[in-house]
Amino acid sequence: MKPDIKYTKLFINNEWVDARSGKTFVTLTPHEGTVITRVAEGDKADIDLAVSAAKAAFHRNSEWRLLDASQRCRLLNKFADLIQRDAKYLAELESYDNGMNINKASEYIDSRIKFMRYCASLADKIQGDTIPADGDVFTYTLKQPTGVCGLILPWNSPISNFVTKVTTALAAGCTVVVKPAEQTPLTALVLAELVKEAGIPAGVVNVVPGMGSAAGSSLTHHPDVAMISFTGSVEVGKLIQKAAGETNLKRVTLELGGKSPLIIMNDADVNTAVRYAANGVFANQGQVCIAASRLFVQSSIYDEFVKKAVEEAKKIKVGNPADPTNHQGPQVSEAMMKKVLGYIETGKKEGAKLLTGGKRIGTEGYYIEPAVFADVTDDMTIAKEEIFGPVQSILKLDTLEEVLGRANNTSYGLSAGIFTNNINIALQFAKHVEAGIVCVNTYPAGAYQAPFGGFKDSGIGRERGMECVNEFLEIKSVSIAQPKKF
Ligand code: NAD
Repeated sequence: MKPDIKYTKLFINNEWVDARSGKTFVTLTPHEGTVITRVAEGDKADIDLAVSAAKAAFHRNSEWRLLDASQRCRLLNKFADLIQRDAKYLAELESYDNGMNINKASEYIDSRIKFMRYCASLADKIQGDTIPADGDVFTYTLKQPTGVCGLILPWNSPISNFVTKVTTALAAGCTVVVKPAEQTPLTALVLAELVKEAGIPAGVVNVVPGMGSAAGSSLTHHPDVAMISFTGSVEVGKLIQKAAGETNLKRVTLELGGKSPLIIMNDADVNTAVRYAANGVFANQGQVCIAASRLFVQSSIYDEFVKKAVEEAKKIKVGNPADPTNHQGPQVSEAMMKKVLGYIETGKKEGAKLLTGGKRIGTEGYYIEPAVFADVTDDMTIAKEEIFGPVQSILKLDTLEEVLGRANNTSYGLSAGIFTNNINIALQFAKHVEAGIVCVNTYPAGAYQAPFGGFKDSGIGRERGMECVNEFLEIKSVSIAQPKKF
């Protein structure tokens, strides 16, 4: 059933406004491929207004930046309370606009509410150091909010990304302009209204839906934006760094893609590893940045593992994301569905063995049968490029010596996992694998209390964990002349 659509305009300075150009764009439901509604399409003129509002809110005395930290904490907890109150509606809307199964949407919302409370509690623990400096000076540091931050969101987990970035920036005392992904703008607008209801002052959070090439690019080039926190593709991440370099050297944090290796050693429990490996790659239709999309299985268990992996994939129930008994919904868009089907064709052409799935289901909506490829080799496209779809690629691994070389043979470095009962192998893997998140005998991992982010092309900076607020803070060293004696 179609959820009630309450907000379709831009949210600037706590007001709902049309785009200056009057333009709108459509958002579709991936379940049927039909139009849900039209949404105001922001561009440079609207980004300029939103940045002005955020700048004014940042500089206005005692409204946000100078508000007692305990009050920022209280208001962020109030925002979390409101998300909790409206969690059912938010999950339904996320599921409708994005195609995420309703259970997964609810699970993500619950976990993000916990993160919000954790992060809110960091707001009044931002503290500097006293420094034993040489000379007759008393030296200390102040940690202060960076300023106006542009938060650019992907489509694959819209509520999670909104909540994570906004809460962290606000806990630090920054003000923000959020640019949701054009494929999934609706939940960000509902969250904007909850920001207002929570009592967070006008201008602290502004939300401008629009295209990446217009609204997104204007934000990244804006001289009054001090920082961009971006989640999305490597390609756009590089454009954002370039824009920062061409303008005011704004700070940039990037959460980008992955081609994460999961290694199953001969001594692992096969049944357990099969289950985790399937969840690791098929969850959320494979549209997960930490998807275990390169699965290396050691040779003596390879045949048994492959057989069981196929059985596991066949158990996945694909269908309407509003039905909680289904596991997998549609891909987010026709373009993404075609891209994933294209990778499946390339996998077949390059000689990988497709053992199950891989076809489009029906002609309505963007559904794909979960696919399992065996006999994948390191040089094949499906072993190198991020697919972002329900495709498991199984590669054979012979010796222990191959593990690190093959795991690290990628430009990405987001997540990595190993299943083994040998603690020494696990410890060596954790130490030497080039990835920001490492899992041993489990997959995936993403506790909100732990830092999350990548090495190499997978990004810069970390979200979540105690360190997350630091990404949004400047450190100031203060030195005061101090005579040695009275
Ligand atoms: P995308 O890079 O195409 O788009 C992401 C956002 O950037 C959208 O809001 C888009 O409008 C905006 N954008 C596009 N062009 C822009 C430009 N020139 N300037 C500024 N903004 C611009 O990525 P996507 O398709 O939305 O998401 C899929 C990708 O995101 C995958 O590669 C996935 O791995 C990655 N991802 C990473 C994480 C993580 O935490 N590391 C999480 C989710 C998704």
